[in-house]
Amino acid sequence: MPQDPLSPLSSAEIPAAVNAAFVHQPVWDMHTHLYPPTFGTPVTNATGQMDPNGHMLWGVDELVTYHYLVAEVYRVQPASSFPYEQFWQLTRAQQADHIWKYLFVERTPISEACRGILTTLQKLGLDPNEKTLAPYRKFFSQQKPDAYIDRVMQIANVKTITMTNPVFDDNERQRWLGAPDIGNDPRFRAVLRIDPLLRDYPAAAGKISTWDYPAAAKPDAESMRQIRRFLGDWLDRQKAIYVAVSLPPEFRYPALPGDALGLAGQAVLEQAVLPVCAERKLPFAMMIGSRLRVQPGLRDAGDMVGQADIASVVNLCRDFPKNKFLVSMLPRENQHELAVAARKFSNLMIFGCWWFLNNPSLVDEITRMRVELLGTSFVPQHSDARILDQLVYKWDHSRRWIADVFAEKYQDLAATGRHVTQENIQRDARLLLHDNFAEYVTR
Ligand SMILES: [Zn+2]
Repeated sequence: MPQDPLSPLSSAEIPAAVNAAFVHQPVWDMHTHLYPPTFGTPVTNATGQMDPNGHMLWGVDELVTYHYLVAEVYRVQPASSFPYEQFWQLTRAQQADHIWKYLFVERTPISEACRGILTTLQKLGLDPNEKTLAPYRKFFSQQKPDAYIDRVMQIANVKTITMTNPVFDDNERQRWLGAPDIGNDPRFRAVLRIDPLLRDYPAAAGKISTWDYPAAAKPDAESMRQIRRFLGDWLDRQKAIYVAVSLPPEFRYPALPGDALGLAGQAVLEQAVLPVCAERKLPFAMMIGSRLRVQPGLRDAGDMVGQADIASVVNLCRDFPKNKFLVSMLPRENQHELAVAARKFSNLMIFGCWWFLNNPSLVDEITRMRVELLGTSFVPQHSDARILDQLVYKWDHSRRWIADVFAEKYQDLAATGRHVTQENIQRDARLLLHDNFAEYVTR
């Protein structure tokens, strides 16, 4: 490879240069459900401190019992032989032993969720061939959470972790109120998550009324003023960098009576949420397309995907030009139309391949299509990690998939006679893994 980052690369040199650029570029992970140790951890560890309701999840028992794996173990040990309730009555360690036995020992752990755990163990320096979880448990029990976060971030090459902070979750809310500096860990940024305010307005209005923001069951002008004050106070408290909501496939804007938002939710969106975001220049993020609990016995693992409506996203981007929108959709079938929508609206940033899309074949297909339609002006991936250690495999795998797509695209570019240099590639890797999001939040 040429030493000079400005000299043109040959087609044969491009793949290695692209891979190196994507591996070495630190990531701003723009959507996770991870927390710093100030939010407490339920995992036994070297500090000897444990908070059963703590939010910071990490370690092998959490990794192996993640809901992706719960769904997969029920493919091979069906509910007819092992009823759901029996599984949920096990301790976390017993659940992990059950999943390890049936998915990792008695079967080949070849699915993406299984392989991810093996990559994580390997990159932590552990042997992924153990027959039981005991050796891994020993390793994790020796870690101190704060130092372990640094280690994971270093291995995953993640510079900043974006949290998701649901203000209507009592456990979460009490922690913020009880410790004003809880969000000050420089490795983490907060996001104000407000689902009930839009999706179940009467219940949310009842709650915020008891928190000294009196709001009527049918929102009037004074209620809107109180909701705006509520949002402003919490954005200040959390120093949140955007506001977020998750929406079902049925979400429509404008709402039809009986819709996911309902008319009250829509009014709150139009008269409180979007004006507050616009005034503070904060993006409003919508994650659309998950249908909750189609198999209730599986609990968290029982959610499904359903086709969503991009016209609703288009209507919002057009009707609220002073707002910035961040949008990710779960259905594969929505990805093309969403990418085309982003060509029409500079206030729409599309991001990530989440949950059922976080598979090599789909990330490859979706990233390829986004590059072809949008160049480098999108955020290709976020981890959506709920367990800290998941950062290791999610970014290791995603970086490779994304780099493979770009290597081919740069080779196509080189074939036109246009010079492709190391400097070009590094600049693009910086945009895709860090700056596109960083600049969108602050512009
Ligand atoms: Zn998420």
